Amino acid sequence: PYQVLVIGQGPAGVSAAVYLARKGIRTGLVGDRFGGQVNDTLAIENLISVPHTEGPKLAADLRAHAEQYDIDIIDGVTASGIDRADDGALAVRLGGAALTARAVVLATGAGWRRMGVPGEDEYRNKGVTYCPHCDGPLFKGRDVAVIGGGNSGVEAALDLAGVARHVTVLEFMPECRADEVLLRRMAESPAIDVVTNAAVAEVLGDGSRVRAVRYEDRAGGAGAELGVDGVFVQIGQVPNTGWLDGAVELDDRGQVVVDAKGATSMPGVFAAGDCTDAPYKQIVIASGAGATAALSAWEHLVRG
Ligand code: FAD
Repeated sequence: PYQVLVIGQGPAGVSAAVYLARKGIRTGLVGDRFGGQVNDTLAIENLISVPHTEGPKLAADLRAHAEQYDIDIIDGVTASGIDRADDGALAVRLGGAALTARAVVLATGAGWRRMGVPGEDEYRNKGVTYCPHCDGPLFKGRDVAVIGGGNSGVEAALDLAGVARHVTVLEFMPECRADEVLLRRMAESPAIDVVTNAAVAEVLGDGSRVRAVRYEDRAGGAGAELGVDGVFVQIGQVPNTGWLDGAVELDDRGQVVVDAKGATSMPGVFAAGDCTDAPYKQIVIASGAGATAALSAWEHLVRG
């Protein structure tokens, strides 16, 4: 058995595991994708003291840092539940098996929010994508739609405008809500059009590829079918907490409720990073919260 199990191998989880290992705590670091969301990011320029890095490089650096310590890295596994055993230990279910520990740090991050319309799943990776940095180059010279006109949508549109032939941003609200500087740059780009009040109703294709996206006009006008080869969905993120299934308190957005020490509603279970209700989802913030959760888990063990 471990003293502490950390679930999730993104910045929060790796930080927690390193802090625990440095205290001599027997730590398991479990996850299904080392590096987490960092893998989907290209340039990272706000990781303080590292003026510039790139997602895959940061993911490799996170692993290298973890490997410097006596941490049991358990890759390729997805946690599916957490229970309290009779002896007071915590058991984390991993597929058919379970691992036990005296404390657990939840660091399962967040994933892309889906539109929930017909065609979205059918054409995933056949034109429907959530990661402009990963898949943008596949749409060189093509027409694409970006769904969502917030910061990430507008950033995606600006990014794609350099590759695609034309970009149409479909925004649900009457106006795009992104930083002024991004909106200005978008307005100046001849390759980007914006349609507001657009509620995406369906992704259409020929069975093997996306061919169009159909939207309705929320302001009462006529909707339209927009011929595109790619649909980049940028409507926010959802915390990866469905697997917790009532074990710890979640807020109305499904985020794990934590206090200033990273403690959840379940004694011995701490949480950090994008899966929690702490504000601002950023790498340095997730790393810091991972350290906080680790120190709290350590204190929990020491006070036993
Ligand atoms: P994550 O990075 O989401 O890692 C969680 C890990 O847990 C994932 O690997 C996930 O697969 C895994 N997991 C989930 N459920 C389970 C389960 N049940 N069992 C096992 N494993 C599980 N931040 C910045 O500071 N600067 C930037 O420039 C920046 N750019 C970004 C660009 C994009 C496109 C995106 C999407 C995010 C960006 N961010 C940026 C935000 C930053 O990536 C996140 O805040 C940070 O990665 C959160 O770290 P985390 O460890 O909490 O979660």
